[in-house]
Amino acid sequence: MTLNLGRTLKQHFGHSDFRPLQEAIIQDALAGRDVFALMPTGGGKSLCFQLPALMREGLTVVVSPLISLMKDQVDALQTSGIAATFLNSALDRHEAVARLRGLHRGEYRLLYVAPERLMLDTFLERALNWNIAQIAIDEAHCISEWGHDFRPEYRELKKLRRHLPDVPIMALTATATERVRADILKQLALRDPRCYVASFNRPNLSYRVVPKSAPYEQLVAFIRDRPNESGIVYCASRKTADSLARNLSEDGVKAKPYHAGLTARERTQNQELFLRDDVRVITATIAFGMGINKPNVRFVVHHDLPKNIESYYQETGRAGRDGLPSECVLLFSASDVVKQTHFIDEKSENEQRIAREQLRQMVHYAETRECRRATLLKYFGEEWPANSTETGDNGPPLQPSCDGCDNCLTPRQTFDGPRAKISLVRPPDLRKKRIRIRLKSCRRGADWRGHSSDPAARTQSAFDLRDRA
Ligand SMILES: [Zn+2]
Repeated sequence: MTLNLGRTLKQHFGHSDFRPLQEAIIQDALAGRDVFALMPTGGGKSLCFQLPALMREGLTVVVSPLISLMKDQVDALQTSGIAATFLNSALDRHEAVARLRGLHRGEYRLLYVAPERLMLDTFLERALNWNIAQIAIDEAHCISEWGHDFRPEYRELKKLRRHLPDVPIMALTATATERVRADILKQLALRDPRCYVASFNRPNLSYRVVPKSAPYEQLVAFIRDRPNESGIVYCASRKTADSLARNLSEDGVKAKPYHAGLTARERTQNQELFLRDDVRVITATIAFGMGINKPNVRFVVHHDLPKNIESYYQETGRAGRDGLPSECVLLFSASDVVKQTHFIDEKSENEQRIAREQLRQMVHYAETRECRRATLLKYFGEEWPANSTETGDNGPPLQPSCDGCDNCLTPRQTFDGPRAKISLVRPPDLRKKRIRIRLKSCRRGADWRGHSSDPAARTQSAFDLRDRA
């Protein structure tokens, strides 16, 4: 069995080895078990249902929320010679009928479909004749209102179990807290599922939070400091995305906006320019994301405060897919928190409760003096590092440095002595800390730019120099 898996992996996907968890998930899927898989973006989620689809009789139905996502995956599969197709509203009637005929004749191994279409009675009735061997539900967190991307149409998927009682279900997501996980298992009525949770740590990403004082100037300085790198700037509004792109372009940094207010054609065009490295920066709202796979995104800057940690993690996760060092910078100001609180006040009572809690966690991340990596991972229920036993002189456990966040890096660059002392001298808030560190470096004659070989340290210097101006 393992031998066959390896051969199929090589033959159809061109890989010699599985990524963590893939093989075990695939074996469970082939054994007909329900599976829940939580794997970070870039962790090789899709392979977990694509490979089994090739190794057994019947059709694998993949539920996917986005047209662009379906198309990308199906294109890639077809390029590898795999019989895959999708059905969605982007097809004309003629094409849709042709694909349905193909499904009736059993010509496909994989079908990608949106939840609202799959759950139509007429569609399900047809699908019962297609010898469905497996259902894979991608972006499964959309089923939970506790997730950051709740889609009511996903709730309908719970009926699948009733219509297709013998077909194993695989639920996959790249983002889910423990609460969302439990919700997914319950909503989909998974039967004794095997649950897999991969590590969310992205060791090549560095995390930084910077006080937002003169955001545009801070941004330009940051980008100019990295003349050959491309990145994404996330903003809260379409207006900001537009104006940042315009201003950056005028200041000699090729940039394009991406948001839901542009036509589909403009969006595709801007995205293509970015993917081909014809523009260096994309200024985007949350509309830019799912399914974007550009390996060499070197930085993700959050110009405004994200609504929740999950979005933040997902968006920063678009940096460094190629495994090379990449930077994630959040510009943080109290006025952003106030703005979001106003938005929240306009929501329904239940939504308010959830949104407030999510905002509180986001603000905690921005204000914490602890390691940011550990804080992010803790949000996803992951302890980082896995086995920390080191303790400080006075007893409390010490968090080892992650070597990739401002809270871990800055004190180490500035203060001598053991880490126990570092944790004691940490001042109560970011701004104070920065001032204190700056004074100390000045006294010691340290050159901020002298650290520029370290990409994480460079961010600090660019922003701090700007702060002083
Ligand atoms: Zn850290």
